[in-house]
Amino acid sequence: MPTVETVRGTVDVSVLGRTLMHEHVFVLSTEYAQNYGAGAWWDEEERVTDAVAKLRAIVAKGITTIVDPTVWGLGRYVPRIQRIAEQVPDLNIIVATGLYSYDALPFQYENRGPGLLVDVPEPMVEDFTRDIVEGIGDTGVKAAFLKCAIEAKGLTPGVERIARAVARTHCETGAPITVHTSAPAQTGRQALALFREEGVDLSKVVIGHAGDSNDLDYLMELADTGAILGMDRFGLDIYNPTPDRVRTIAALCERGYADRMVLSHDASCFIDWLGGNQDQIRSAAMPNWNYEHISDDVLPALRELGVSEAQLDQMLVGNPRRYFTVAGMAGAAL
Ligand SMILES: [Zn+2]
Repeated sequence: MPTVETVRGTVDVSVLGRTLMHEHVFVLSTEYAQNYGAGAWWDEEERVTDAVAKLRAIVAKGITTIVDPTVWGLGRYVPRIQRIAEQVPDLNIIVATGLYSYDALPFQYENRGPGLLVDVPEPMVEDFTRDIVEGIGDTGVKAAFLKCAIEAKGLTPGVERIARAVARTHCETGAPITVHTSAPAQTGRQALALFREEGVDLSKVVIGHAGDSNDLDYLMELADTGAILGMDRFGLDIYNPTPDRVRTIAALCERGYADRMVLSHDASCFIDWLGGNQDQIRSAAMPNWNYEHISDDVLPALRELGVSEAQLDQMLVGNPRRYFTVAGMAGAAL
């Protein structure tokens, strides 16, 4: 049986079960929190307790895995995730490697690379591969997938270098990819063109945030490459309200695309982008942007539009299991 790496170690892909394919536990810059959060809006113990409660609540609703694409640029910090995972033993948490930028590279990579001031092989490939094969920092936790972003600005030099490093790491390790895309700018096309050029297996790519679009032609064009559509921002009504997201998924199921979609919220327990008073902001502007909206509201709404139990299982269980089934995954081969 194929296996996949989680925060608590290697598991058989068959145990993943109902999987939310794009949820953050925390989006939190360490540098920001250490300098401005302590004594103000960031209390480590309080936030860990809160995260444990929120994650136990989704386990109670039948979710058994979350896939967390928090990488550098979003504040990945695996020791805190380990603490939380220990207290939610019935939930698998899968973590990522990669880099999140809409434009420039971090200075730590800008001048290092082939033909640059520090002329070395692409350091991102080296770092991402280490996370997948050996583990992240000294945690022993291995990343199971790669993440990058192509936002409305498109393939800026920095974004392109990251995307190619992600693609090359995929080709060497087999690790699947999730790419954040802009639905209004339809950057899913650019992502797939670049990945195809680099020899990526497109069936191992999730086009993140495809579900912000209701343009069926665009979505079918992406899915026809074999890629998986991330219908993954339920509750973020500012980008696309739930009734529209639901109608789009039902229409795609009707056209035979249930095997090309995964579901999620892109939610988090805490996101420092919204500041310390985010609970008020969320409850006023985005009351459904939490881990429970799909279980409580979206699945019933999909059923009402004729989506079958088998199709729901396909999107929640079958597609995530297939995505993480990787022949000869580097970690396993060593
Ligand atoms: Zn996200």
